[in-house]
Amino acid sequence: MLGLPVISEFSLGTRAAALERMGRETFDLAVIGGGITGAGIALDAVSRGLSVALIEKSDFASGTSSRSSKLIHGGLRYLEHFEFSLVREALHERATLTRLAPHLSQPLAFLVPLYKAGMPSALGNSRLKLSVGLWLYDLLAGRENIGRHRWVSREEALRLAPRLESRGLRGGFVYYDCLTNDSRLVIEVIKAAAARGAAIANYAVARGVIKEGSSMSGIELADRLAGETVSLRAKVVVNAAGVWSDEVSRLDNAAAPLRLRPSKGIHVVMPSDKFDNQTAVLIPSLGEKRFLFVIPWCGRTVVGTTDSDYLGELDEPLAEQTEVARVVASAASSFPEAEISDEDVISAFAGLRPLVSANGESTAEVSRKEEIFESESGLITIIGGKLTTYRHMAERVVDLAARNNAKVRHSETSRIPLAGVERLSSSIEAEASNAAAEFEVPLELVTHLISSYGGNFRAVLEIAGESAELRERLIEGLPHIAAEAVYAARYEMAATAADFLVRRTRISLLARDHGASIESRVTELMQR
Ligand code: FAD
Repeated sequence: MLGLPVISEFSLGTRAAALERMGRETFDLAVIGGGITGAGIALDAVSRGLSVALIEKSDFASGTSSRSSKLIHGGLRYLEHFEFSLVREALHERATLTRLAPHLSQPLAFLVPLYKAGMPSALGNSRLKLSVGLWLYDLLAGRENIGRHRWVSREEALRLAPRLESRGLRGGFVYYDCLTNDSRLVIEVIKAAAARGAAIANYAVARGVIKEGSSMSGIELADRLAGETVSLRAKVVVNAAGVWSDEVSRLDNAAAPLRLRPSKGIHVVMPSDKFDNQTAVLIPSLGEKRFLFVIPWCGRTVVGTTDSDYLGELDEPLAEQTEVARVVASAASSFPEAEISDEDVISAFAGLRPLVSANGESTAEVSRKEEIFESESGLITIIGGKLTTYRHMAERVVDLAARNNAKVRHSETSRIPLAGVERLSSSIEAEASNAAAEFEVPLELVTHLISSYGGNFRAVLEIAGESAELRERLIEGLPHIAAEAVYAARYEMAATAADFLVRRTRISLLARDHGASIESRVTELMQR
């Protein structure tokens, strides 16, 4: 593994230095977009010896990459569309990420309940059909599989999901995929790229392009914090702007074809004690031919997702009341004993899939495989893809971007651990209890910090050691402490309280007040 020894500062000071470099150097590669796609490209390129700059118009992961279903998965559903190579690639990436950042790709069991014929179910009620699909899923994972599927009896299914509809229940299948924390995955990839020398700035928006003759040679960007403009020069520019990529393409060529077909998916966050599930569960979506995941995540339960064409504004898509109501009703119907109602909604969020236009098909049928285009001026645009496959997607983009550069090495990212996990001992339990004793803090706090910050958790504990105030919990009922806000400003380039509440932590999704009550305290902590 190719780890780096110590945690590096990644603050607003680092940002100012990066923007200063952007105005001075000519980079091998400039990336527009700080979601998982752009982050992955920056890390791949810089680790292959290229000089790299990345700009993000808002905060890292503020687009789709903080609004996913939080799964690192092969995508069982894609087997229905015979997308075997996509599933195999995603299952391989699942194994790679589990090795590189185990806390960001944690194996999770999924229960698919089967009912008597004619009753609503997530994936149909044919035991044979489902068993063939799951057998294939295991086969495509090959030796990297994290667990083989199995049939469970009705009693076992009800033990795993005690409040599940029991009428007509025959049993179910259990299979395995992985759970992530999407925005934390992005920030860790960004930090890994920065630690290797990439110049990276959030709140820096591409407003125009620089051309020499008909070839692209850079980006005109606006620093949204200082209100200044910077001319960033680069040999190759990559457009990884997700659902905004058509907008960016039109900076290059006002007549560039529109390729995107955004599709919206919403999720609802509810208390997990309402469900009492031991696994994730697949349930039917009421009135639709699709299913919803009911996923245990960060001490809550996330239910979603939907899939519909979206024509609204791109910056802040909203989970509409009718969409939330359908998800809540679906959960209530599948878990009748949980007595779920609107009162149980802690938060809801919407994300936009950057799908590649495919006329006629429903958005659910459009392939999730990424597509890469190169414009006449040399702008490379990547759209589509999955959070799960970001590493491999990045490798392909950098192969293309560096095809004329004989000195560039092969991709090394399959050997680059994230979040300092190389500093963790092989027994996480022993590491956690040692650290709890060493720093004289509760074991649950250390467990929370390891699951959030991986091998960098000690940096948070060291900040917490500076004062009793920094060891205080921020919100009753959630594990986060004040030191995390200082850590986010010092080591994760958080610029605003929202960066911390929404993306460095997920307090905005987990707390009923979305963190509003601690916003000024967080701002004050971050200013230290
Ligand atoms: P984004 O994350 O949107 O990043 C693009 C970035 O570009 C944004 O941050 C934006 O601010 C920035 N930008 C735009 N314009 C400019 C500009 N002019 N200058 C500078 N920056 C700019 N995948 C999985 O693997 N597992 C899942 O469970 C999963 N669930 C999903 C559920 C839903 C509801 C959705 C919508 C998607 C899901 N996906 C999942 C897919 C996955 O989330 C996306 O494929 C991925 O996050 C897209 O990342 P991206 O970097 O391409 O786009």
